[in-house]
This record gives sequence, C-alpha cells and structure tokens, in this order.
Amino acid sequence: MQKAVTLKPYNTFGVDVKAKLFASFNSVSELRALLPEIRKQETLIAGGGSNMLFTKNFDGLFVRNCIKGIEEITRTDSYVVIEAGAGEIWHDFVIYCVNNGYGGLENLSLIPGCVGASPMQNIGAYGVEIKDTFEYLDAMEIASGKLTRFKAADCAFGYRESVFKHALKNQFIICSVAFRLSLHPKVNTSYGIIEQELFSMNVSTPNIKDVSDAVIRIRQSKLPDPKVLGNAGSFFKNPIVTLDVLESIQSTYEHVPSYSAGEGCVKLAAGWLIEQAGWKGKRFGNIGVHEFQALVLVNYGEGSGKEIYDLSQRIIEDIQKKFNVILEREVNIY
Ligand code: FAD
Ligand code: NAP
Repeated sequence: MQKAVTLKPYNTFGVDVKAKLFASFNSVSELRALLPEIRKQETLIAGGGSNMLFTKNFDGLFVRNCIKGIEEITRTDSYVVIEAGAGEIWHDFVIYCVNNGYGGLENLSLIPGCVGASPMQNIGAYGVEIKDTFEYLDAMEIASGKLTRFKAADCAFGYRESVFKHALKNQFIICSVAFRLSLHPKVNTSYGIIEQELFSMNVSTPNIKDVSDAVIRIRQSKLPDPKVLGNAGSFFKNPIVTLDVLESIQSTYEHVPSYSAGEGCVKLAAGWLIEQAGWKGKRFGNIGVHEFQALVLVNYGEGSGKEIYDLSQRIIEDIQKKFNVILEREVNIY
C-alpha cells in the first residue's frame, strides 16, 4: 500500500488530486487479503477512472482492480458464454469478441474503462446496453468476503443504472463479468448514424466487425480522446420527461429531438439542450464544454475538479431555467 499518491494518471479528466492511500489487486485472493484495509476506511474501487470526477483530495483508500483473464464458460450451437476479469480493458475485450465472431458487444466498441465497471451503469451506446447480453457477474461482498453471483434480474439494470449505484452501493467489488454472445449474430444498425457510416464505408451487408469499425470511426470523429483532452464522456444523463414538458419546449423549438421512453414519457438529448442554451464549445480558462459534443465537459490540462463541477452546476441551473428540465450528472463525483 502506498501513501499520498497522485490520481492524475488514474482518472481520465486528468485531475491532479491525491489519494491518502493507494493499492491494487490482480486476483480474488489478493483482493481478499486487502479486505481488512478496505473495511477500515472509505474506499474507492476503480477501473479506468473514466467515469469519475475528483473535486478534492481523496481522504481514503483508492484501489485499482487489475484482475485479468478471458475464459469461455459455455458453448452451444447458437451462443457462447464468455467471462472476463474485471480489470480487462473494455474495448480490448469487445475486439476479442468481434475477432472471434461472438456477436452482441460490437456497438459498444471504444468505450473507455474496464469490464468490471460496465455493469455499474449498464453501459450503453448506439442502441445497445450490456444488459442485452449480460449473463452474470461475480462480486465480493466487502462485509463478509463472500463471492456472490448476480444474474441480470439481481442487478436492476436501467438506463445508466444498476443496483450497485443504489441499494448495494459500496457493498460489492465486481471481480468478473460474463456475457452470452451469439455465434450467428444479427447486427444492430438501427441507430441512424451507423447506417450512414456503413454507407460511407461502402458496406452494404455489414458483419459485426463492420459495425464495430463504424462505431469506432464515428466515436473518433466526434468524441475527445481522454489521452489528448481530459474528459469523462457524457457528463449528464439524457433526461426522461413527461409529454407536457416536451410540448412546452416544442412551443419554442418545434424540432426538439425526442425518443419514446415508456408511456407518457420521452427521452430528450441533454447535449441538444445544452447546445441550444449556448454552452457548446465555450471555454472558461482551463476547462470548458467540448466543441463537437456539448454533453462532454473537458479539462484543457490544469483544470481542477471543483472548476469542472461548478461549471456542471451552472449548466444544470441554466437548463432548468430555460427548459424546465433538471439534468442529472452521470459522472460519479468524489
Ligand atoms: P471507473 O471510472 O473507474 O469507475 C466508475 C464507477 O464504477 C465508480 O463508482 C467505481 O467505484 C465503480 N467501479 C469500477 N470498477 C468497479 C468494480 N470492479 N467493482 C465495483 N465498483 C467498481 N459510458 C457509457 O455508458 N457509454 C458510452 O458510450 C461511454 N462513452 C464514453 C466516452 C468517453 C470518451 C469517456 C471518457 C467515457 C465514456 N463513458 C461511456 C463512460 C465510462 O467510460 C463508462 O462508464 C465505463 O464503464 C467506466 O469504466 P471505468 O473502468 O473507467 O470505471
Ligand atoms: P447522438 O448520436 O448525437 O444522439 C444524441 C442523443 O440522442 C443520444 O444521447 C441518444 O441517446 C439519443 N438518440 C439518438 N438516436 C437515437 C435512437 N435511434 N434511439 C434512441 N435514442 C437515440 O449521440 P452521441 O453523443 O454521438 O453518442 C452516441 C452514442 O454513444 C449514444 O448512445 C451515447 O449514449 C453513447 N455515448 C455515451 C457516452 C457516455 O459517457 N455515457 C459518451 C459518448 C457516447 P442514448 O444516449 O440513450 O443512446
């Protein structure tokens, strides 16, 4: 265990804060050995640090989950179940599946972070969420040290949500995650921009590799690479609102984009609201709102987490005033 370690390399915002204590583990048995320390103080389990914002030094134990390994668990004529260690890099795992012809995760290409964090907010992109192929996860209960298996029904997956962010928050450490992937995959290109990209790639009958390539190309063209410009992806969730809120916005903005989200509700694009409110591309010293995607807050280098948090608060207040919509942060704040 190390003391007073800078977390700058361990969070994709590149915020320079210190953790009082720092440790990592490479296996379930190393994790078990760390449990007494974890129980003693506030502990933060991290993967790639791509969904966190530190507004101050972390006065506790920061632990990196580095459990590696990819294993085939079951194979039938139609599917395989593949289990990956929580410390595997998510995108590398997706590419492993794509290269082996295992379908289901290709739309989730190039999402930063590790496998172990993927169930935390049921990561999603381009019309797919991990809950669609999730088989089970194994997690260690901090209090008892017991390894527990969670099936999908136990995880209460929702839009960027799971039980691990709510009822079971800070109680379990995810060690591995398994997915049921198709051996005869049908591609999902229904998310508009994928079809356009495939068209520009001259692909008329796409396979999962083509879809993965298309998603990678789209993401590289509009999202900042955290290695170059600090960010944590979408800072806010897309709000789900009732139809009367939509109608009120439509009275000024006839063409506001909206997507059905259950009876009497629609999902609005938070990035669109922020852009209409005039924040897109705005820079405030060391931080700002990304020039191509208003949903992404960025750190130009020396910005602090507090500055980024304060900017997010100003955006929330402005969107509430202009559209009567309350944005919720997707990024975890510490
Ligand atoms: P971390 O940031 O390290 O941790 C996130 C949370 O999970 C923390 O609360 C942490 O304590 C907890 N956690 C992590 N690992 C474990 C574990 N093993 N056990 C228990 N708790 C754990 N997200 C999407 O959903 N869709 C996207 O398309 C997407 N695109 C992105 C694009 C960019 C450029 C960036 C920077 C981020 C994007 N994200 C996206 C957000 C982020 O990449 C995902 O949420 C990712 O799953 C976070 O993984 P991580 O390993 O970095 O998690
Ligand atoms: P986009 O394609 O510009 O679309 C803007 C928003 O409209 C998205 O947030 C998306 O909601 C919604 N949307 C668009 N087409 C839709 C459809 N056919 N059905 C339902 N909803 C639709 O979005 P983008 O910012 O470039 O991101 C592309 C994808 O990557 C999105 O799925 C987004 O969630 C994901 N992404 C996530 C993060 C993150 O950090 N969480 C970062 C970057 C990208 P959804 O977000 O619900 O899909």
